[in-house]
Amino acid sequence: MPVIVNEKDGSSFVQADGDTILRAALRSGHGMAYECSAGGCGACVFDPVSGDFETLWADAPGLSPRDRRKGRMLGCQTRACGDAVIRCSTSVDYVPPIAPRRRRLRLIGTRQVTHDMREFRFSGDGPADFLPGQYMLLDLPGVAGSRAYSFSNIANAQGEWHFIIRRVDGGAATQVLFDELRIGHEIGADGPYGTAYLRSRSPRDIVCVAGGSGFAPVLSILRGAAAEGMLGERRAHFLFGARHVRDICGAAELAELPGFVEAGQFVPVVTAPAQGEVWAGAEGYVHAHLGTSLPRPLAEYEFYFAGPPPMSQAIQELLMIEHKVPFAQIHFDRFF
Ligand SMILES: Cc1cc2nc3c(=O)[nH]c(=O)nc-3n(C[C@H](O)[C@H](O)[C@H](O)COP(=O)(O)OP(=O)(O)OC[C@H]3O[C@@H](n4cnc5c(N)ncnc54)[C@H](O)[C@@H]3O)c2cc1C
Repeated sequence: MPVIVNEKDGSSFVQADGDTILRAALRSGHGMAYECSAGGCGACVFDPVSGDFETLWADAPGLSPRDRRKGRMLGCQTRACGDAVIRCSTSVDYVPPIAPRRRRLRLIGTRQVTHDMREFRFSGDGPADFLPGQYMLLDLPGVAGSRAYSFSNIANAQGEWHFIIRRVDGGAATQVLFDELRIGHEIGADGPYGTAYLRSRSPRDIVCVAGGSGFAPVLSILRGAAAEGMLGERRAHFLFGARHVRDICGAAELAELPGFVEAGQFVPVVTAPAQGEVWAGAEGYVHAHLGTSLPRPLAEYEFYFAGPPPMSQAIQELLMIEHKVPFAQIHFDRFF
């Protein structure tokens, strides 16, 4: 198995069969910088120093034209073909709190959540061990590359892994998930990954913002907060950005969360009602309602958000530039 040396800090790790450089690094406890694991964000970019490399997705959008000119590569889309030396950024913040591992998951149930979002429940051997808000990389039959899906449930001894997934028109993975996968079918999975997990030691009130299927990790975070008895001592505010009224969901799941009715606030925001829809609630972009929905200065909260990259960008700018929220209080996943 190839040994990869990171010239920047002298550390080394082994790349097991089938692993990318990023997965090998994280699996062996190295904090290689990353975010999406899906070729979209560019956070895991590295400089190859010596050795041969195989690129899995040559057109991955996470590499900028400048990166390409400089010969840089994405850790999540590259394998070393033998021993290799690289230069990449690392930090303890990226060391996985739970070592990711590969497993087979069997589909045991589905439930329609909205007209285009469905909950998929899988079962695997052993306990389901992950932190609220993390994600798994799923390998679907006939689909090139893995896809990241956030957990919507919380860790459990029964070995159940739940996801809430939105159907994407023309999307390769979602077509298999929605139209071809049947109860009892098995898929490959690797995880948990992700750094936007619940900070249960934070004393601050929680603010969650979801855009569309960003509902999945936010639900996991709120479920985690409820299970750890955090609601009550802390308040939780959940702003849900939906394109139209028919895209809103969450009220039923939140009503079941111990403590949310007393300590929580749910603010659905509709970008613009579709023709014929009646809506008396908040309208516009979800981030525009953060300032008005929260009773205290924004710098006093712990923020979690997930959804489309433009939503994430708008929230980051609002929090960091306008409201000076420390970066350590901001946790997010962009759904590339
Ligand atoms: C951290 C994270 C968490 C996410 N969580 C959720 C969630 O909880 N629910 C949800 O509905 N969606 C989630 N997504 C989005 C999801 O991963 C998919 O992008 C989405 O379902 C569309 O997939 P598709 O294959 O149907 O569409 P496609 O358009 O076929 O593919 C979309 C994405 O797949 C990747 N991709 C495409 N081609 C390749 C290739 N050849 N090799 C490798 N990768 C490729 C790219 O990242 C691309 O943006 C998440 C994304 C990320 C990054």
